[in-house]
Amino acid sequence: MIHPDALPSLVFADSQGNITDFPELNMAGMSGGQFCQPSIEDLIPLPEGSELFVLPGRLPVGCNKENGEPLLLEEDPYQPGDTVQAVAAFMSPAYTAIFNSAYQTRGSNAPRLPLFAYTAVGWHQGRFWVTAFRSDPDIRQDFCQFDQEKIIRKTRKKLKEYGDNRLVQHLGKCCLTYGCPAARNYFLGRWEAPLPTSPICNARCVGCISLQPAGSCSATQDRIRFVPTPQEIAGVAIPHLQKAEDAIVSFGQGCEGEPLLQAHIIEEAIQLIRKQTARGTINLNSNSSLPQAVEILARAGLDSLRVSLNSAQEQYHSRYYRPDGFTLTDVKESIRIMKEADRFVSLNYFIQPGVTDSSEEFEALSQLVASCRPDLIQLRNLNMDPEWYLHTLDFHPTKSPLGMRPWLLKLQRRFPTLRLGYFNPFLS
Ligand code: SF4
Repeated sequence: MIHPDALPSLVFADSQGNITDFPELNMAGMSGGQFCQPSIEDLIPLPEGSELFVLPGRLPVGCNKENGEPLLLEEDPYQPGDTVQAVAAFMSPAYTAIFNSAYQTRGSNAPRLPLFAYTAVGWHQGRFWVTAFRSDPDIRQDFCQFDQEKIIRKTRKKLKEYGDNRLVQHLGKCCLTYGCPAARNYFLGRWEAPLPTSPICNARCVGCISLQPAGSCSATQDRIRFVPTPQEIAGVAIPHLQKAEDAIVSFGQGCEGEPLLQAHIIEEAIQLIRKQTARGTINLNSNSSLPQAVEILARAGLDSLRVSLNSAQEQYHSRYYRPDGFTLTDVKESIRIMKEADRFVSLNYFIQPGVTDSSEEFEALSQLVASCRPDLIQLRNLNMDPEWYLHTLDFHPTKSPLGMRPWLLKLQRRFPTLRLGYFNPFLS
């Protein structure tokens, strides 16, 4: 992996939102609300297809080039008296953050940041650098894999072909309006395709990307408004599993609630699918709240379960999920049921520097891995304002965090056969 030959400079945005660098200060990072200076090994070029965000009401923090001490940039060094704003990178899929963008919120009426991940970014030798590592070599959602003209042409053709299938029509909006990579791959007839089914959920995650209470930040996509029939689901899944390269179909998408609440529909759909084809992987992304429903789906032929998890500590799990009638114990039971059925289990583990790599969280995760035996941990950045998240958890660490790269090494040493990645794997 390429690293810079020196620490990049701080970048900031002026009052108009124009982004520029300030070579007088090095870039900084933030972990669990603490500012720190990244090391050269933490830095990689900004991945293609990533976006840069200007953070309203947040002042940029950089580091003193001599001693690495954090320093606040309070006004525009090129337009004295003018305000400045912090900048963050929202990285492309398959990259995991080491530090959040370093900023200080000005006052209590700064707008809540929308539901994205805010990674530290700097400037050096004519390019942007981020504090991150590639966590999965799989190219299925790489920016260069998507030809928009071809996507539009193929999507319109399939929307006509499946005019009476509401699920295909819904995925058409996901593809053309939201640019969902999974929906795009469905219309391109390859890799992992989405099967959303549930308008409802039995949790109220603080950072839910499909449903946010009024007065909070906006959800990044609308929730599906209907429950597709098993026939509509099979209509999407069967041709995809029969023809696509490394074919996977996944229930549980960002545009829905909890799929386990539609277990009987999904059970019937899996039976219809497996009557027609044994090819490909049938996966379920889920909060894994209902072990009995997981048992029904495993019996029906579900191949893999991806368990979404912000923390392996009960108090932090419940403060984030605000669950209705389930606990982390039920989630662990769902994993055990899938493993007893000899199926594949991933953790969709929300990465938040300073929380994920806290020693208490590392020990709790290790206990879960040792007792439940998941096969893979997907290292996905938590899409939420870090300060709002720390407040939600009432997070008060007693010790400095391990650091994301030492955390990764420690996890690999403790569980050498545990797979680490970012995407649901193609199993057969
Ligand atoms: S489990 Fe999923 S759909 Fe339900 S509230 Fe949480 S993020 Fe939203």
